[in-house]
Amino acid sequence: MKLNRTQLALLRERMQAAKNFPGNLYGKKYRDIDIDAIDSQEAFEALPFTEKSELREGYPLGVQAAPEEDIVRIHSSSGTTGTPIIIPYTKQDVDDWATLFARCYEMAGLTKRDRIQITPGYGLWTAGIGFQLGAEKLGCMTIPTGPGNTDKQLQMMIDLKSTVLAATSSYALLLAEEIKKRGVGDQIHLKKGVIGSERWGDKMRDRIRTELGVELYDIYGLTEIYGPGIGINCQKEAPMHYFDDYIYLEIIDPVTGKVLPDGETGEIVISTLRKQGAPLFRYRTHDLSRIVPEKCSCGCAFPRIDRIIGRSDDMVKVKGVNIYPGQIEDVLRDIPGVSSEYQVRIAHENGRDEMTLRFEAEPEADAFALEQAVRSAFKTRVGLTIRSEANPMGSLPRSEKKSKRIFDERY
Ligand code: ZN
Repeated sequence: MKLNRTQLALLRERMQAAKNFPGNLYGKKYRDIDIDAIDSQEAFEALPFTEKSELREGYPLGVQAAPEEDIVRIHSSSGTTGTPIIIPYTKQDVDDWATLFARCYEMAGLTKRDRIQITPGYGLWTAGIGFQLGAEKLGCMTIPTGPGNTDKQLQMMIDLKSTVLAATSSYALLLAEEIKKRGVGDQIHLKKGVIGSERWGDKMRDRIRTELGVELYDIYGLTEIYGPGIGINCQKEAPMHYFDDYIYLEIIDPVTGKVLPDGETGEIVISTLRKQGAPLFRYRTHDLSRIVPEKCSCGCAFPRIDRIIGRSDDMVKVKGVNIYPGQIEDVLRDIPGVSSEYQVRIAHENGRDEMTLRFEAEPEADAFALEQAVRSAFKTRVGLTIRSEANPMGSLPRSEKKSKRIFDERY
């Protein structure tokens, strides 16, 4: 997806403002870059990426690019490494975010007559308050329960006849199970679920959809770029529309940094076009997806990205082919008789890389046939010849947390 003139002009204007703002990280980063000379796709793609670590190094307000008197709020990402990232917002940023979020709700078919129960957390995190302001902007009745307290949650859901549930996938599943357990399904009026989460599997999706009896929508976003609400799937198809009048999105090869053609899978890189408080340019999200080049059957002109298939940090490269856990899961899911558990071993043998995919086969299945099916599906869909190995059900290690499934023994 190439930059258009409007996007390029907005970018130059925001880059200049960030570069000139005292203490902003782009002052140093763009010191030797003539912003006015960024007048083409090539010039833009020559700009360095912005990394999460740079935001962290600038703690607390190294990303601020608007005067103190214009900042009305900060949000913070949960810092897994200790130092959080602080993102300041101006009044306009907060309004823009609400506008984007309201568009997402409209894309999912919500109207002023909907009643939305908002269960993500409020506070430093961007989730709850983003869902809230977008819904108010659209004109829904909001029920800001936040997370937890299942009794109160279900009481509100039943008595106020909530029609939409905003939640993470795990919390939606928890509520679905609770509703089933208590046998109150016939008192629930939910029609839609708007789910803001990291990658969640189709099995979970199906369970939530069936048990709550709702249509599900994937909402995309990250704290560094407003928060959730910069993209969502529509009522027709699974890929998510994103709003290219507020963000410019690129897909890059996570190893080489090269911009990939539309349709190819890689890492999402985002530049903000209008953000004042904390503009970011060519920011590496480490989320993996692809631009979907085909026009959507809903008729909406906003471009689309596919569902997030994982994190680039989890990617491995074998014989020049990038492999993501999400791709492996997709291959296995479509082969009957194979469970979703797997383990990958990559080794350097006899002068070349070899990948072995160990999976679990159901008791009745023909292990040899399954091994062949897995090899052939992997070759067709991922483009790599591998070894495959069927194991009895339940023999591969499981853990509550994300289990380590890829063992790279080449280095
Ligand atoms: Zn659409």
